[in-house]
Amino acid sequence: MGRIRVLSDNVANKIAAGEVVERPASVVKELLENSLDAGSTSIRVEIENGGRRLIRIVDNGCGMLRDDALLAFERHATSKLHDVKDLLSIATLGFRGEALPSIASVSRLLLETRAMEEETGTRVEIAGGRILSCDEIARGGGTALSIRDLFFNVPARKKFLRSEQTELAHIASLVTHYSLAHPDKTFELWNGASNLLHATPVETLRERVFQVFGSQILEDLVELTERSIRLQLAEPDEPPREFKISGFVSRPQVQKNNRNSIFIFVNGRLIRDRLILHAISAAYHNLMPAACFPFALLFLRFDCEEVDVNVHPSKTEVRFRHQSFVHDFVRDAIREQLMQSRPAPSFTNAMSPGGGGHVQAGHQQAAALPYSDFSQMLQDFAPDKPPEPEPGAAAELPEFVMQHPAAAAARFDFGDTGIPVNQPVAERPAPPSTLRLKVPDTHGGFPEGSIPHVSGMDRIGELRPLGQLHNSFIIAAGADGLWIIDQHVAHERILFEQVLNQQAAGRVEVQQLLMPMIVQLTSEQQIEYARIADELRNSGFDTEPFGNRTIAVKAAPASIGLGDLERVILEILETAENELRSVSLSDLRRGIAASIACRAAIKINTPLDQRKMEWMLRTLAATEYPMACPHGRPVALQYGTREILRAFHRI
Ligand code: ADP
Ligand code: MG
Repeated sequence: MGRIRVLSDNVANKIAAGEVVERPASVVKELLENSLDAGSTSIRVEIENGGRRLIRIVDNGCGMLRDDALLAFERHATSKLHDVKDLLSIATLGFRGEALPSIASVSRLLLETRAMEEETGTRVEIAGGRILSCDEIARGGGTALSIRDLFFNVPARKKFLRSEQTELAHIASLVTHYSLAHPDKTFELWNGASNLLHATPVETLRERVFQVFGSQILEDLVELTERSIRLQLAEPDEPPREFKISGFVSRPQVQKNNRNSIFIFVNGRLIRDRLILHAISAAYHNLMPAACFPFALLFLRFDCEEVDVNVHPSKTEVRFRHQSFVHDFVRDAIREQLMQSRPAPSFTNAMSPGGGGHVQAGHQQAAALPYSDFSQMLQDFAPDKPPEPEPGAAAELPEFVMQHPAAAAARFDFGDTGIPVNQPVAERPAPPSTLRLKVPDTHGGFPEGSIPHVSGMDRIGELRPLGQLHNSFIIAAGADGLWIIDQHVAHERILFEQVLNQQAAGRVEVQQLLMPMIVQLTSEQQIEYARIADELRNSGFDTEPFGNRTIAVKAAPASIGLGDLERVILEILETAENELRSVSLSDLRRGIAASIACRAAIKINTPLDQRKMEWMLRTLAATEYPMACPHGRPVALQYGTREILRAFHRI
């Protein structure tokens, strides 16, 4: 007799469960997806003890036929796939036919279901993969699945579960985000007797975001209106492929220190994808410090043939057929939207404490829930692939930001005012709250409707400079309130765009040096130099190798002072090494432009006369993106008239 045996179904299911059922939230994910695939318009999720004691999902979908109710628990039994051709264009969330048998093998499961076309329903009871009963019952249409005692027969797995709160937070985040993907459906989430989410059908995603997160967070977001693009394939008889994107992204001043607030749906499926994460970071490049991340809720709709969803058992990863096309489409869509909306940071937003991470899931109802670490959960789903830092992200970058002369140039001596020097804005203590209760308007004037409510930086050119604060910040008044503009950062943005335009036109203004300047390089810098030498030339640096690990600089962009030249070149090489390796030419150009702009911009502690301040504001207004410097620091803060009035108890 041979030594190889075919595993029993029960063992095979448990093995599959190891991949599919990582924790309670992964059960919820599979069941939610089944309910959505069944065409449900209303889904209720009930949880007890973080999902360990009970997960129950009730839907009003198509239900299961009597014959199917048992079949659904067979391995690889699915109604969603017929033959292998279907695998190429999967439109449903499920297709593997693995979830129900896997879940049933590690829990006590109760299924109650009735298909619309049948008179009676079915009740199936299973424990640890063994069918205990199967009865006819009376019930309405739709399906209810109860999962009790998850992992009761897999003690090893049970040990890995985290605290009840953590597991619940994962579930809450999951249900919340699926509710965002389907604004037209009802979603309810109950933890015991307490209601964590109740979203009733609404017409737009904006309304759903409001329902789920509340108005405060909505204010920090920019809606990404739907854009679509067609790709004509090389094969002539293939129809063009369509790609669509919509969603919400945060204003650049909302800066999170990890990617946990980025949610990506591809064809209705919540996924984790490095390519898209990179595209998002690229969209915020030069708008936000490189080690920071935005909040993003993206819905991508691609022709099914463009997305391979059969990549991972838990279906949290996909593969795109045209990767770089998808990357650039996502990056450009977000970037264009940010450029268009140009929202101005308000005092309170920009100064919020705690690393600027003020986008949190915290609707009134869900306020008690910690915002869940959802992407961590997705990583947990795919434990074989630890996330690698992306080019230019994570570990090495905070250092870059610290060392970068932008920080040094902006160093400011506040004397003994006690304000910390050279600290990122986001970490400064929050100012005293300006929110007051409404009081009757006894002071006259300012009826509500007459207060101009202008946001955005389009009007910045119309501002009237009043003077400088500490010779460093321009104070200006406008119809929409009081503004403070960081003169160094504003000038940096102006020069940055100027250099970019000159680079693009191949016409950078240069200065010839009387004597070539010799710059000594480390061996890493020398490698970088060889890689980017052409681009340096295009940006106005005329350089050539000069003996061992040195280069001679014969000409440089006119805007850089000679004293700064060596620093700028070393900095460009260092940036190229840290941040831009394997990144596109346009990113490299932006890096070079950012270095030049930072060096050439006027410093703080520099007095400016009225004409110069006016010039600064007008020129800033004409830039493409006046809100942030190329390193992502805010340019201007606005203290809105409305906020001022509120603070003076006038409204
Ligand atoms: P898959 O979703 O990959 O098909 P599952 O194991 O998750 O595999 O489910 C097996 C089958 O059970 C599905 O194909 C579907 O026909 C049926 N099913 C599961 N959940 C529901 C539900 N909530 N409503 C109707 N049918 C369901
Ligand atoms: Mg399924």
